Amino acid sequence: MREEPMSKSNSTQAERVDVLVVGAGFGGMYAVYKFREMGKKVVGIEAGSNVGGVWYWNRYPGARCDLMSVDYSYGFSPEIEQEWTWSEQFAAQPEILAYANFVADRLDLRKDFRFDTRVTSAIWDEEAKLWRATTDTGAVLEAPYAIMSTGPLSIPKDPDIPGIDRFKGELYRAQKWPHHDVDFAGKRVGVIGTGSTGIQIIQEVGRKAGELFVFQRTPSFTLPMRNREITPDYAAEMKKHYRQMRAAMKMNPTGGTRPVTSRPYFSLPPDQRIEAMEQAWINGGHTFLGTFADLMVNEEANEAVADFVRDKIGQIVEDPVAAEALKPRGYPIFARRPCLDTEYYETYNLPNVHLVDCKKDAIVEITEKGIRTESGETELDMLIFATGYDALTGALLAFDVVGRNGLRLKDKWKDGPVSHLGITMTGFPNLFATTGPNGPAALANIITISENDVDWIADLITHMEAKGLSAVEPTQETEDAWMTRVAELAAPSLIRKANTWWVGSNVKGKPTGLTMFVGGFAKYREACEAVAASGYEGYAFDRVSEPA
Ligand code: NAP
Repeated sequence: MREEPMSKSNSTQAERVDVLVVGAGFGGMYAVYKFREMGKKVVGIEAGSNVGGVWYWNRYPGARCDLMSVDYSYGFSPEIEQEWTWSEQFAAQPEILAYANFVADRLDLRKDFRFDTRVTSAIWDEEAKLWRATTDTGAVLEAPYAIMSTGPLSIPKDPDIPGIDRFKGELYRAQKWPHHDVDFAGKRVGVIGTGSTGIQIIQEVGRKAGELFVFQRTPSFTLPMRNREITPDYAAEMKKHYRQMRAAMKMNPTGGTRPVTSRPYFSLPPDQRIEAMEQAWINGGHTFLGTFADLMVNEEANEAVADFVRDKIGQIVEDPVAAEALKPRGYPIFARRPCLDTEYYETYNLPNVHLVDCKKDAIVEITEKGIRTESGETELDMLIFATGYDALTGALLAFDVVGRNGLRLKDKWKDGPVSHLGITMTGFPNLFATTGPNGPAALANIITISENDVDWIADLITHMEAKGLSAVEPTQETEDAWMTRVAELAAPSLIRKANTWWVGSNVKGKPTGLTMFVGGFAKYREACEAVAASGYEGYAFDRVSEPA
């Protein structure tokens, strides 16, 4: 470990460390652990008061992960796998947060984090070959390596509706839910937003509130989660097979254990297609995606599955007008993040739950007393926003990141994010992102990607230190070639055909486009490994000393 003296920079006392990590979600927690294990002096900065990232902030009623708990957990520590036991197939937020805290306790991670602290700028010092980060507490940190584990979903977005400040009732944002209990009993509650978050809130609050008014602009497709408890026998069996499972996850496009198929939809005769869809509906989860291989590239196949799900909605929802409004149309199924629910559609059969179809009766404004749509005012005691995020790039553009020759990240990304592997960027030496916007990011298991990315960065730093290299960045050709591959894979994908946070169209003025790597986690991991195996071909290094 290198112990550096405190240095003076810009007349502010700066603390010198080896590695700076931003974020205490699953990526940042693992990064802090990994670099500390390598003997580095590492400091993590986190805006929240504790670990957990998105699971620290998202405490809204019904919050739950739509990946299986055994998949959505760390694979780097066989000890933790054995010590921790999941209670449900799809864990709820309190259990996931408890898991993050368990890991933090077990590995003593908190001592290396500065909580309640936000980075306000990160600037590369070319002469000193280090990143200088300022924070809102006044602390300044300097480090040769900076790891941005800021997460794809960390900057909440309010709806673009006038009058938000006027509302005199209780106002809650799903993405920043308070730490105290919220009482819904007997209240008139309004929810804006029907993505994964809104769906989870609606199915929960609809059963607790006096009246629930759902202001729906775009309906989402949602599939039955079919969650269940994990029995002690099942947990014990799982624990025996963790190593094989983790190996299989590395080869899986989802970075999880969900089965994959090479079977195209039309390879089956019509009756068998229906049978397969019925089975996927019964099995629950994202099994449709493992039933047919071509749903994201074959519009006809996609539409057939969408029709199947629309029929199911019609069978469940008793009021035909509500059923029709809840049926998503005009975009491919799975082109928005597919939601998993527990009796979401059944919620609309409750007498206290009312659907306001904002496609036909648009929201005009928020008033002191509630929400005014074109047809009139709905008075509310409580209003909940489940209106999503400035995703993928929002957190990295929320502060000033300045690379070589004064290059600002917001200028580099003015037409959309570009990088190599989602991890490194030309012009930003020694700056690394985990689950960055040009990797699989939101399209695969974020914990698997985080571990892959941190390990890759750690190997690169080890390589540099062995060779006496001080700064690294991909060449422009390397970055361009990756972005060409990302674009070529994205071109046939139906994901481009929906307006979503995946393509940036949920934020006014944001450049739009599918910039994530849609080739799946396994191919992404192979690409990362190939770069390392080549001795980091396509990367430019600065030399400071003779090789170690
Ligand atoms: P989201 O998918 O972006 O949904 C935001 C919702 O707010 C949309 O229905 C949107 O409607 C609506 N909205 C925004 N502005 C509005 C306005 N002015 N008027 C009316 N409606 C408005 O955000 P999210 O639901 O928070 O989900 C984000 C991601 O988080 C998910 O895709 C998923 O990856 C993750 N997540 C996962 C889980 C899970 O694991 N189960 C749970 C929650 C979240 P429009 O579409 O019409 O704009």
